[in-house]
Amino acid sequence: MGHLSGKVALVTGGSRGIGRGIAVRLARDGALVAVHYGRNEEAAKKTVADITEAGGRAFVVGAELGVDGDVDTLVTGLEAGLGAYGEQAVDILVHNAGLNLMGRPIEVLTPEEFDRMVAVNVKAPFFLTQRLLPRLRDGGRIIAISSVSTRVASAHGIGYPLTKGALDVFSHTLAKYLGPRGITVNSVTVGFTDTDMTADVHADPANRERNISLTALGRIGQVPDIADAVAFLASDDARWITGTKIDVTGGVNL
Ligand code: NAP
Repeated sequence: MGHLSGKVALVTGGSRGIGRGIAVRLARDGALVAVHYGRNEEAAKKTVADITEAGGRAFVVGAELGVDGDVDTLVTGLEAGLGAYGEQAVDILVHNAGLNLMGRPIEVLTPEEFDRMVAVNVKAPFFLTQRLLPRLRDGGRIIAISSVSTRVASAHGIGYPLTKGALDVFSHTLAKYLGPRGITVNSVTVGFTDTDMTADVHADPANRERNISLTALGRIGQVPDIADAVAFLASDDARWITGTKIDVTGGVNL
């Protein structure tokens, strides 16, 4: 029996990368986990299979974010999945799914690309939270996955950091609003981490070495480095932490 036994978590983008790591870790701690994916159903099913093989409980929820009806689709799938386990409420909501169109400085970023990043990184978490508020249990957790690019100017573009900054402000403001319900809201500032998102960047040894040299702890972050911090925020040990950003970057640009 883990310390999250009896809790229900939804991890957006739980199919791959950091979200997958968070889903696996929360399930290991005992939570029933809704593993959300956008397009890669196979990866989501693999995450669920790995969780169940390890004795955990999880189910998949598919919904592409950033398109019309995205939140409706996600909530319909969530309801169906929860129903199969006799559950209705959610205790832990992790806004992890994110889109980073790299190499798009201000001169070239198009309005369409800008809108897509805002839709996936800001609008979807906003309206998903709005829809889930009635079923989020008092004493619950909302955790947003943000980026070190909100404090270190990025070489890769300006649109993505802008969306993550908006997500931080969303979390901070929502924390005050949800305080009376005992729901904590925090964001996790992620640094250079090995996932599909950064595979191309880190495939270039010069980029990899540069990012390592910028990181005080002297390596590229790995998925469990982030998942463990999220698990802490989800736990009762973090009950008195709300409205803040936790820097989980290994000390980038100290
Ligand atoms: P990733 O490996 O590219 O995985 C992204 C996940 O988000 C996948 O599960 C994907 O689902 C889902 N997703 C993306 N766009 C979606 C959409 N439109 N609709 C539904 N689902 C969508 O990325 P990651 O590196 O794990 O990133 C996870 C979070 O960490 C993101 O918010 C990212 O901005 C943040 N972050 C990452 C780094 C890093 O160095 N990796 C640094 C700072 C912040 P499908 O596979 O089904 O499409």
